[in-house]
Amino acid sequence: MKDNVELVVVGAGPAGLEAAITASQAGMDVVLIDTSPKLGGQYFKQVPESFQSDDRTGNQAKANKLFQRLRSSTVKVFHNTLVWGIFEGSTPGTWCLTLYGPGVPERINARAVILATGAFDRSIPFPGWDLPGVITAGAALTMIKSQRILPGKRVILSGTGPLLLEAAALLIEGGAEVVGVCESAANLIWRGIPYLPAVWGQWGRLREGLGYIKTLAGARVPYRLGSAVTSARGEDRVNEVTMAKLDRNKKPIPQSEVRQAVDTVVIGYNLTPSTELCRQLECELEFDGGRGGFIPRRNERMETSCPGIYAVGDCAGIGGAEMARIEGRIAGYAAAGKLGHMPEQSVLRGISREEPGLRHEQRFAELLGDLFSPPAALYTLAGPDTIICRCEQVTLGQIREAISYGAQSVSDVKNMVRSGMGNCQGRTCGSIVAHILAVQTGRSLEDVRYLNIRPPVHPVPINVVEEHQQGLRNLEQGMARE
Ligand SMILES: Cc1cc2nc3c(=O)[nH]c(=O)nc-3n(C[C@H](O)[C@H](O)[C@H](O)COP(=O)(O)OP(=O)(O)OC[C@H]3O[C@@H](n4cnc5c(N)ncnc54)[C@H](O)[C@@H]3O)c2cc1C
Repeated sequence: MKDNVELVVVGAGPAGLEAAITASQAGMDVVLIDTSPKLGGQYFKQVPESFQSDDRTGNQAKANKLFQRLRSSTVKVFHNTLVWGIFEGSTPGTWCLTLYGPGVPERINARAVILATGAFDRSIPFPGWDLPGVITAGAALTMIKSQRILPGKRVILSGTGPLLLEAAALLIEGGAEVVGVCESAANLIWRGIPYLPAVWGQWGRLREGLGYIKTLAGARVPYRLGSAVTSARGEDRVNEVTMAKLDRNKKPIPQSEVRQAVDTVVIGYNLTPSTELCRQLECELEFDGGRGGFIPRRNERMETSCPGIYAVGDCAGIGGAEMARIEGRIAGYAAAGKLGHMPEQSVLRGISREEPGLRHEQRFAELLGDLFSPPAALYTLAGPDTIICRCEQVTLGQIREAISYGAQSVSDVKNMVRSGMGNCQGRTCGSIVAHILAVQTGRSLEDVRYLNIRPPVHPVPINVVEEHQQGLRNLEQGMARE
C-alpha cells in the first residue's frame, strides 16, 4: 500500500470530501483518511441500510451525490483509520502522518495535508453533570439518527444553539416525553434583527428551524429562553434536575429555581473545533469566541501558518456543513495550485467562484456565534466536589487549588493535577479548565491559552507508538548509511 502521496485529507465529513474531490479532479494523488467506517462525517452521517428514512431535509440526497462523486474519482480512502500524529517529513517540505487502522501503513508522507477533523460537543459542568443519563446534544443526535435509539423517556435539554432544538424535535418524534428546553440565550428576536441580511436566502435552514419549533409547539414543550439546568441528582442515574432563570449577567436567579423529574438530561453548549492536529503541529492559533474558541490562523486559501498544512470546516471554526463544503473546495484548489496541478489563473478563478457563498455563510456563522455563545457566567455552576476532568476524576476544588499554587495556564493545571491526561486528552475538560482559570485569575480566555498537545492526539495501543519510534530509528539509521 502507498505510503507517499501528494495530498492527505484528514476527515471525510463535508469539508474533507469536497477537498479530496476538488484536488483529485485537478489531477492530484489524494488519500482521504477517517476514523469512521463510512463517509460523511457528522452532517452526512450514513444510517444503517436497514433503517428507513424519508430524507425530509434532502441531506441524504446531497450526501449521496457527494459520495458518488468521490467514488468516481481517483481518491483512495482509508476507513477506520486514525491519524494520531503529524510530523515534519524526512524530505524538506513534506509531512509525515502516523496512522492506526486495519491494513494501512504505519505512516504516510504527503507534500500537502488538508485537516478537516470537525468538532466535538461542548458542555458546561454543574453538580451532577457526570451522572449516567446526562449526555451531550451531539450524542443524543447520533443515537437517534444513526442508531434509532432513544436515550431516555423523560428528557430535559439545556444549553444553547440550534442543535439543541433539533435534538428536542427528534426526541419528540422518536416518542420521548420532552419536559422542556432551557436555552441560555435570551431576547433572540431583538438581538437577531441586525443580522437579518445574513438570514436572507437561508430558506432551507429557516424552514428546518421552523419545523423544529412547530414540533415543539405541537407537543406543548416549553422553550425557556434565558434559563438553564443548574444541577442534577440521582443515585445510579439522574432522576431530578433543578433549572433556573438567568439574570442579565447569565447568573441563575435562586428564587426562580424549579425542580423537575427526568431520566435524561441533554446538554449542548455548542461545539468546540477539533484542533488537536493543528496544536500538535504548533500552527498559530487565534481566539474567536463565536467560532468556538482557539482556531488555526489561515490565509484566504485556508493554509495555516505551517506551509502546506490547510485547515477547513468546523476544525477551523464552527460554521456548519455548507461553509465546510466551500472551505474544502477552496483548499482543494489551493493545494492543487501549490503542487503545480493547476495554473494560478484557474486557482484564482475557482476561489473567486466560492467567495460570495463563503461570505454569506460567514455572516450566518457570525449570527449564530453571537446569538448562541456559551455564557461564561455558567462556568461557576460547579461546586468544589464537581468532577471537571471526567477521565482522571479531577474536581473543581483540586483545579482551584492548583491555580492558587501558581498554575498560569491550562497546561500548568494539567501538569499539577492531571486534568486532560486521560482518554479524551482534554477534549471535554480543556476549555472548562481555561474558563475556571480565567474566572479565578481575572484574565481573559485568550490570555490563559489552551492545552498543549503531544502525539498520540487520540489514544492508541502503546505498541503502535513504540513501532513508530522504532520505524523512525530505522529510517534515521538508513539515512545515515546513505
Ligand atoms: C456530534 C455532532 C453532531 C452533529 N449533528 C448535527 C446535526 O444533526 N445537524 C446539523 O446541522 N449539524 C450537526 N452537527 C454539525 C455539523 O455536523 C458540522 O457543522 C459539519 O459536519 C462540519 O463538517 P466537517 O467536515 O468540518 O466535520 P465533520 O462532519 O465533523 O467531519 C470530521 C471527520 O473527521 C474525522 N476525524 C477527526 N479527527 C480525525 C483523526 N485524527 N483521524 C482520522 N479522522 C478524523 C471524524 O471521524 C469525522 O468523520 C453535528 C456536530 C457534531 C460534532
